[in-house]
Amino acid sequence: MAVIGSGPAGLAAAAQLNYAGHLVTVFERDEQPGGLLRYGIPDFKLEKWVIDRRVALMQEEGVTFKCHSNVGKNVKISDLMRQFDAVVLSGGSTVPRDLPVPGRELKGVHFAMDFLKQNNKRVAGKDFLANADIESNILPEELLATGKNVVVIGGGDTGSDCVGTSNRHKAESVTQFELLPMPPKDRTDIMPWPTYPMLLKTTTSHEEGAQRHWSIATKQFIGDDAGNLKALKVVDLEWTTPAPGQPAKFTEVPGSERDIPCELALLAMGFVHPQQAGLLEELGVDFDNRGNVKAEEGKYATNVAKVFTAGDMRRGQSLVVWAISEGRECARKVDEYLMGSSTLESKESSILMSFQ
Ligand SMILES: Cc1cc2nc3c(=O)[nH]c(=O)nc-3n(C[C@H](O)[C@H](O)[C@H](O)COP(=O)(O)OP(=O)(O)OC[C@H]3O[C@@H](n4cnc5c(N)ncnc54)[C@H](O)[C@@H]3O)c2cc1C
Repeated sequence: MAVIGSGPAGLAAAAQLNYAGHLVTVFERDEQPGGLLRYGIPDFKLEKWVIDRRVALMQEEGVTFKCHSNVGKNVKISDLMRQFDAVVLSGGSTVPRDLPVPGRELKGVHFAMDFLKQNNKRVAGKDFLANADIESNILPEELLATGKNVVVIGGGDTGSDCVGTSNRHKAESVTQFELLPMPPKDRTDIMPWPTYPMLLKTTTSHEEGAQRHWSIATKQFIGDDAGNLKALKVVDLEWTTPAPGQPAKFTEVPGSERDIPCELALLAMGFVHPQQAGLLEELGVDFDNRGNVKAEEGKYATNVAKVFTAGDMRRGQSLVVWAISEGRECARKVDEYLMGSSTLESKESSILMSFQ
């Protein structure tokens, strides 16, 4: 069994398949296993000894980890397809959403993951400027928020992690922008229990200090003569819903355009889909209409024989719990494919079901 990608989906799939008695090798292009658990989420939210302990247990149980193995680049997928009876694609959703407004090319405008990944490596005592050749988004320059006016563009978990990291770097100021209006603190009539409520989330990073703005758009990055970012041109937005059930629309608030000092802008607007060039295109997997690897929920099989997929690579950017769940469910499907049936637990076949 080959598992490509060692984030929570890949780790969960590998652990379960190993438990079922298969020989499992995990291929990871980065220096260490863990995916976004290690290189996205900062230590102040998840200390890395937790991942190290789990990986060590898995190694003792027989799982092989091959790091610095970028499948589709320095490891050929055709070799893996020949050598392994089944392949699980769990490479995550790694292409970040960009903000293609004037000035995007200025020095000081960066994707959030470039900043967070470098900091996670710095905290781990690793050479964070090395390995630029493994498509790990690492830039050959040091990114520090120290003494800078930082604006984080994007109001989600990634943005919140940038806020916490910038404060730890001792930024001059930290501001977070969100295009959408401020969500309510409590459920409203349009999000009754048990639907998933879109409520205001205030994290410990926000509590540590940040200015938060909602309904605001960045129209331009403004630079100095040397090409360094010095300000953002922003505008307030007014959101309206044309009719119930129709998507909300925004218009710019007249006269609200202004420049905000900023020497470091971090783009944390989510991820569009997995990296398609290389491994995925070479394999010939189908993509869904969002650009993720296509495989039905509950089946996890792609259109390519013996190739399965799980986690953010299949469902799009999501949560750790979903990645773990998908990895476990996918493992059962792979086990069924290889053995004809499976005794691995799944959501439909769990010992917990007998207590219901
Ligand atoms: C900054 C940040 C903060 C987040 N905070 C939270 C949070 O607080 N709570 C939460 O629940 N979720 C959070 N998430 C989301 C969560 O981290 C992801 O949903 C989850 O990690 C997805 O797991 P995965 O295994 O599918 O992919 P990933 O964790 O992305 O792992 C994919 C792995 O595959 C490797 N890989 C990719 N291509 C190849 C290849 N060709 N060859 C070899 N290896 C390859 C990558 O290097 C990576 O290690 C956060 C995400 C980010 C970016």
